[in-house]
This record gives sequence, C-alpha cells and structure tokens, in this order.
Amino acid sequence: MFKVKNQDGRNAPLLICDICGQCIEDGALAGVIYEKTGNPLWSDVHVGHKGQCLDSLEHRLGDKYDGWEELYRFLSFITHNVQLKGEDIDEALEMNRQTGL
Ligand SMILES: [Zn+2]
Repeated sequence: MFKVKNQDGRNAPLLICDICGQCIEDGALAGVIYEKTGNPLWSDVHVGHKGQCLDSLEHRLGDKYDGWEELYRFLSFITHNVQLKGEDIDEALEMNRQTGL
C-alpha cells in the first residue's frame, strides 16, 4: 500500500509491504500477488517483499492465489494504463534527486 511519511516537514511517499507492514526500500526485491475475487475479470493486488512475505501470502491465499509479478513490471503496466509519459516521470525523478525525496 502507499503511505506518506512526514520527514523533516516534507511528505515522503512510500510503498509499504502488505504482508509485514515494513517499508519496501528496494523495488527489485518486491513483487505483487494477484488474488482472485468473485468476478473472474478482476483480481485484488497485494504488494510485498519477495521471499518470505510473498511466499507466506501465496500459501495463505491457497486457491485464491492468481499469480505474481515483479514490482517493476506491475508499475510499468500502471504507468501505461494511466497514460503517464516517460518524460514526465524522468522530470519528476530528477526533481526527487534534487530535493532528496
Ligand atoms: Zn514484507
């Protein structure tokens, strides 16, 4: 889930593991798990650390487990589906580097 932490008077958006509740600091070590819903067209999504967190959620979901995806792949789909442009993201990343967020 997304959360915002106030750090030194500034808002720092963070991604929190849905399983352990800890901050995801390295996106390469995170993924999403899809959970079947009552509607076959839709799945719920859980984000978490690879390894113990996603493994325990997969086990807990049982028959409701509907696959998983690398976090970077999932975010690329979101970026595409909400029609964000690469140059806008590049500009925002540069601003983040300059402000330290
Ligand atoms: Zn976790």
